[in-house]
Amino acid sequence: MSSRARGLLFIVSAPSGTGKTTLVEQLVERIPQLRMSRSYTSRPARKAEIDGVDYNFVTRERFEAMIAAGQFLEWAPVFDNLYGTSAADTEAMLASGDDVVLVIDVQGARKVRARGIENSAVFVMPPSKQVLEARLRLRGTDSEEQIQRRLQVAREEVASFAEYDFMVVNDELAAAVDRLHSIIVAERARLRRMRGVAESIVRTFHD
Ligand code: 5GP
Repeated sequence: MSSRARGLLFIVSAPSGTGKTTLVEQLVERIPQLRMSRSYTSRPARKAEIDGVDYNFVTRERFEAMIAAGQFLEWAPVFDNLYGTSAADTEAMLASGDDVVLVIDVQGARKVRARGIENSAVFVMPPSKQVLEARLRLRGTDSEEQIQRRLQVAREEVASFAEYDFMVVNDELAAAVDRLHSIIVAERARLRRMRGVAESIVRTFHD
């Protein structure tokens, strides 16, 4: 396969607390030429988070200036903060031939779709509301009020699964990573992407 072919764009969405970041981190470690996009956010960094690693943390003013300058492929307000994907960063990775995963919310996925940008979108579901609630409590980062708010937003988000191409239940981490892995491999093998390789093999039969 030519490493110069343009990369594929993947979207992974999941309600907060579903464990999508861990899932996607393991996925990109396992699959060569697959990279996770680093979003911009106006949210302050949490204790363990590092600027330029987990997110590009910017002020709300800077974020709004970036919106005005058309620098986002998509952006959305999530839980009182703004989150967005840099158009230039994404384009650079795709142009280099790497496949890119955007870990973005349902609104962001809709914006990418509305712009007619080709993508394969995966919705990651928690096994149930009860399991999600237990995971949010275990995480211990949210107040009771925040947990209730996340569950309310999760209820709206899970109802959007039918807008996606694939669905993965994050019941057990390793199994869920395996299923995501299969999706990436299958998308890379689509005939329209393999046509050049197939044609060059066919030509060897005519030499
Ligand atoms: P958190 O603050 O917990 O890191 O993320 C909150 C939510 O923002 C998650 O659902 C996450 O998927 C979403 N998110 C993170 N980055 C982006 C982005 O660039 N665009 C959009 N639309 N959502 C994002």
